[in-house]
Amino acid sequence: MSRIKSIEISHHQLPLEPPFPASWDPVPRELFPCTIVRVHDDEGRVGIGSGDAMHGFAGFARYFVGQDPLDIDRHYTVLSNIGFHACRPWPLDAALWDLAGKTRGEPVWRMLGGTTDRIRAYASTGVRRTPRQMTRVARAAVERGFTALKLRIGDDTLEENLAAVSAVRDAVGDSLELMVDCNQGWRMPWDTSPPWELATAVKVARRLEDERVHWMEEPLDRGDYEGHAALRQETSVPIAGGEVTREPYEFRELLRRECLDVFQPDCVFTMGISGLRHLAREVAAAGKTFTPHTWGNGIGLMANLQLTAGTSGAPFIEFPFDPPEWTTERRDFMLTRTIEPDDEGWIKLPDTPGLGIELDEDALRRTRSESAAYTG
Ligand SMILES: [Mg+2]
Repeated sequence: MSRIKSIEISHHQLPLEPPFPASWDPVPRELFPCTIVRVHDDEGRVGIGSGDAMHGFAGFARYFVGQDPLDIDRHYTVLSNIGFHACRPWPLDAALWDLAGKTRGEPVWRMLGGTTDRIRAYASTGVRRTPRQMTRVARAAVERGFTALKLRIGDDTLEENLAAVSAVRDAVGDSLELMVDCNQGWRMPWDTSPPWELATAVKVARRLEDERVHWMEEPLDRGDYEGHAALRQETSVPIAGGEVTREPYEFRELLRRECLDVFQPDCVFTMGISGLRHLAREVAAAGKTFTPHTWGNGIGLMANLQLTAGTSGAPFIEFPFDPPEWTTERRDFMLTRTIEPDDEGWIKLPDTPGLGIELDEDALRRTRSESAAYTG
């Protein structure tokens, strides 16, 4: 039996020129940070994960060294405890699954139960745009084979953004399902703007009903259970959320109080593949959709693809896509191959053991940094 030998963490930053104006961040991003977690076993295998920056993890590696890599539930309990005391250590969970897959010679989606080896991607934009610009992106998405597109709306540009949703619907008709992300669930540390009140969310939902929107995402603060439940009573648009909700008991409460139609926890930021594999099935059993947030890098995207293919097999999964500002080359700079959907918008899961990714060591050397931050 193999044993975990060491855990190695490195930080990297890809310079973004021009800066990336993410809709959920008031400060345009000059850097794309990436933290790589490697778990080495004593037989030369390496499991890889990425996602959260792992700040605060120093000192906890000793609780994994010497352990059996396949003891997944034990590791999940320790990671959950660390998550309470220090940081969000979930990239390590992805790395442990990668290592477990490599140890057993199986892809992660198959280890999880393997409901399917392909998932349909939806193109997920990251920038708020004028109607004309958004129509251009929508046409590019159709051209690329996508059948669904997520647009961003926000406070200061709300009317213009809603006009963009209408313009896209007019331009593409029913050839695209449209999702709309309001980004009210959480804030960057430096963003002090308050989340929407229920009345605003209802007003926006009415407008989205007119455009036959597939789901409305994060319309309220993540902890406003009452507001979410009330909003669902007020509108026919399905409500999505929970991308960084952290605790299993919070998800249970969201289910019990009928707050969401679509659950979106991202396994490299919350609960790991280990915790979410159970939640995904619970959500599906309740008649809701489980389809993770993936707006990070290619490793996080792949971990969430493996999780979803292995558990709930969602109708769509998020695929960050917003040319020219956001490309698969930027998103997957740490990988030897970018992750791409086929011409009809489907992503085929790899058959290789573990997560099925390979690090671009040259790119990682070039981008090595002391920390993982968004601005210089
Ligand atoms: Mg979102």
